Parts: sequence; structure tokens; C-alpha cells
Amino acid sequence: MRVRVDLAVCTGHGRCYSLSPDLFSADDAGHCVLLHEDVPPELEDQARTGERNCPEQAITVEDA
Ligand code: SF4
Repeated sequence: MRVRVDLAVCTGHGRCYSLSPDLFSADDAGHCVLLHEDVPPELEDQARTGERNCPEQAITVEDA
């Protein structure tokens, strides 16, 4: 599984790193920082949670 974050539409709500802190973090402005582009199996649930909960639909998960 791979995950992408479109930083052009991320507005920094912080839902991703609040709900899935092992996969997403934040920069100084509160925007998303992706920690693992290639998602380890144990973090796949966090990737899907991030995708579902991003208000801007900035997160895209692709199953390998
Ligand atoms: S939830 Fe979406 S808009 Fe909010 S910080 Fe994460 S990627 Fe950006």
C-alpha cells in the first residue's frame, strides 16, 4: 500500500496526525508531513483512517 498527500489542498486541520500519528505528522504550520510513503502492513489501518477523515480529501491510498 502507498499513500500520498496533496499538500496543495492540505489546510492543516490535523485530523490525519491526530487520528493516525504513526503515519502522519505535522510541520510548524500544522500541515501534514507524511512519515511513510510505502505503508508498512501494521499501519494500513491508519492510512485508511487518514484518507477517510481528511476534510480536504488530500490523502489518497493506493493498494499495491
Ligand atoms: S487531515 Fe488533511 S487537511 Fe488536515 S492536516 Fe491532514 S492532510 Fe492536511
